[in-house]
Amino acid sequence: MAHLQYAADTARPGTADVRCGIYEELVSINVSGNASDGAITFKSYPGETAVLDATHFTPSGRQGVLTIHNQSYIRIEDVEIRNFHTAEHRLAPLLPEAIGGFMHNSDVTCRAFMKLTAATGASLTMPSLGQAAVSPSDKMIGIQIGAISFVDEGTEKVLDILQERGGVNTLFLAVFTYGRGIAGRQIPGYPLPDHGRQVYDLNYHGGNFATPHPQYYKNTVIQPQHAPDHGNLDILEEVLPAAKKRGMKVICWMEDVFRKNLPNIEQVQERDLHGRNQETLCVNNLNYRNFFSGLVEDFARSYDVDGIMWGSERQGALCDSLGATHDTPPIDPGEVTCFCQFCYKTARERGINPDRARQGFLELEKFVRASRNGKRPSDGYFVQF
Ligand SMILES: [Zn+2]
Repeated sequence: MAHLQYAADTARPGTADVRCGIYEELVSINVSGNASDGAITFKSYPGETAVLDATHFTPSGRQGVLTIHNQSYIRIEDVEIRNFHTAEHRLAPLLPEAIGGFMHNSDVTCRAFMKLTAATGASLTMPSLGQAAVSPSDKMIGIQIGAISFVDEGTEKVLDILQERGGVNTLFLAVFTYGRGIAGRQIPGYPLPDHGRQVYDLNYHGGNFATPHPQYYKNTVIQPQHAPDHGNLDILEEVLPAAKKRGMKVICWMEDVFRKNLPNIEQVQERDLHGRNQETLCVNNLNYRNFFSGLVEDFARSYDVDGIMWGSERQGALCDSLGATHDTPPIDPGEVTCFCQFCYKTARERGINPDRARQGFLELEKFVRASRNGKRPSDGYFVQF
């Protein structure tokens, strides 16, 4: 065919084969399939590769190489898109539903299935708008997800959505944390997503969203605790069989965020520069290490999981003191950690003088405090520091 746009204006349900060739067009799909006759599939003719080349086009606004607006039952398979440059860097070369809103003011469901093949030299960005999805892949396509999503919307429904819209084949399931960040709903004050329950979970508690087995937590004062948020729900028992049936992998995700009112927690908390307890726990404290090695063993022996993921990102006292963190406001330079007895012992074993290190951080505290109060060193920060 001479122009892809012709097919995009006239195709009927079934497969519209696109012959081998390089098509220099910006294509707008103006047809729909339907539930009874099925989808319209635009795909390369068997054994050939059609290429949509956008070298000579400079799209404006939210224009894409392939724009699908208010159409449904469309599939695009095995068509290579190359040399596309977006007007805005966030945009994707394929923009189903991007024009006119994201499902809100549309009465049709548009699902575009696209396999983005090699795109040498193209400034492609990942689809960030619309419903672009990928075909089943040998590569890991994962998503981080908490128990609350399955509770709110139903396990099978959530898995359907992840598979159909994202081609997801791996779940990074938040199983242990007392933190809301990876296991709760949206952070209060931020906009709720366009699906799920439209309320903030202000009573979030956290803990182990599966079932802790006490035999694995013997050499630690930290007590294993089932997260009370969803009654007796064991999220691994709930999700594992459903995911396996679909060939999806489940990776247990855990992070070291604890509540400050847990029994014995003060024995494991870090000590800051001035010897005060902080909410974070100390990695050089054996109670901490034994708790997490017990948790890992519990996950591995009690459930048929595909892996365990440790999270999340942490950094040391120097960056914390300087305020080089995503915390708002930044951590107080007097509250940097850790100066507990176990860290002192570990430092000495490694030939580090912990008292001298502490002196250095006390000086840094003064420097940072002065800086935050607007007292700029006369020689500039880098020279003085
Ligand atoms: Zn410590």
